[in-house]
Amino acid sequence: MLAGAAADWQARIIVPHCAGCLEPCCRLRTVVLELDWRRLCALYRIDEPRRAFDARLAAGTGPEHIRRQGDRYFAHGQPCPAFDQATHRCAVYGTALKPPSCTDFPIYLDGDVITADRRCEAVDVDALRRHLERAGGTPMAPEPDADFPELVSLVPRAPRRRRHKRERARSSS
Ligand code: SF4
Ligand code: SF4
Repeated sequence: MLAGAAADWQARIIVPHCAGCLEPCCRLRTVVLELDWRRLCALYRIDEPRRAFDARLAAGTGPEHIRRQGDRYFAHGQPCPAFDQATHRCAVYGTALKPPSCTDFPIYLDGDVITADRRCEAVDVDALRRHLERAGGTPMAPEPDADFPELVSLVPRAPRRRRHKRERARSSS
């Protein structure tokens, strides 16, 4: 239920805002793009062997805006090469090359917790909370992330009526 409501919000509220967004996430000024090797090669047109590319990164002679952590690569500080700055369109939209993190941003689902990333200017946490509460019939409590204040999780809470019942049970015992 919440997954559907979050996807609906993404489609109706976030995506239509992208064409006129003042600070598109795809510029990678505030957002970091996570990539696997296949997508890194395709988007950044890398045609050298992975070992050679990794060696250049480690030696500090690779692209400054790309770093590696484990088997993943992270791009930040220069617009994504698939981003058309004039139209705000993504050249790999709807293809297997689009990174999953791009599809999810800025609303993430983890179990029954929805996390919103306020680095997206279209995110209105209060409006999203009300939308999810209407869809799920359950109050959602906002919980800012202690380490990343731009992230706010919306966590389902037991309906107030049931809490009152429990409180009555506790006070009468
Ligand atoms: S920051 Fe939000 S509104 Fe702007 S382009 Fe990215 S997803 Fe779209
Ligand atoms: S792959 Fe597409 S959606 Fe992802 S950052 Fe690049 S242009 Fe934006």
